[in-house]
Amino acid sequence: MIAFLDIGSTLIDGPASGPGKRIAMELGLGDEAVSAMNEILFQTDARESEELAARVAQRFGAGAGRASDVVRQIWEAQFDESYVLPGAKEAIESLRAAGIGRVYVSNIWRPFHARFEAEFPLEAGAQPCFLSFRTRRMKPSAELLGAICSEIDVAPNDVVMVGDTWAADIEPAIRSGMGTIWILHRPDKEKADLIRVLNGTSAAPDVTLGGIGDLTADTVHRAYGLHMRRVRD
Ligand SMILES: [Mg+2]
Repeated sequence: MIAFLDIGSTLIDGPASGPGKRIAMELGLGDEAVSAMNEILFQTDARESEELAARVAQRFGAGAGRASDVVRQIWEAQFDESYVLPGAKEAIESLRAAGIGRVYVSNIWRPFHARFEAEFPLEAGAQPCFLSFRTRRMKPSAELLGAICSEIDVAPNDVVMVGDTWAADIEPAIRSGMGTIWILHRPDKEKADLIRVLNGTSAAPDVTLGGIGDLTADTVHRAYGLHMRRVRD
């Protein structure tokens, strides 16, 4: 058994709005621009903000100078604004000490990943990390989780996915045949999916926790046991 872990708002958090939304708002683009903006930010392996700004200016017809200023400002702020969630380091240590493998699967851009590297250097350096800005693939892609399983040679049945977002983490993991632990860190943001889960119209995770601080090796084993029982039935 092995754990797949999300990073943003599962282990590390930042401002309430993600960078795509903030850049879209600063440039006066509507809400409808946010998902395309996120695709640019999260699927470009940019070394510096200028590269992203050029793509943003081209895609949205924004002025190059203005796009450059806005993207640079949010890129530069992102590292200092982000912080490790309480109990996240202890949770990872609990899994490591119990010999539970960790694989990181994240929709993420470089400055936020820099915080992950700074706070979890051994995880970032020595565990498999599937980062969208490098892989150019984002959750909840139907094939992404299965492709990762093939790549690291593990059966989806033997994976427990840990993440905060039902639509991006939990649903694709269930669909891929994995066990799941929902870290319900932002219930307000998850409200619509939470209601569907409670009403039985959306699939339920094996285990739900209020924060990463409640995750231990025992919790992962419990989720895996519940998942395997469901698989057998
Ligand atoms: Mg997340």
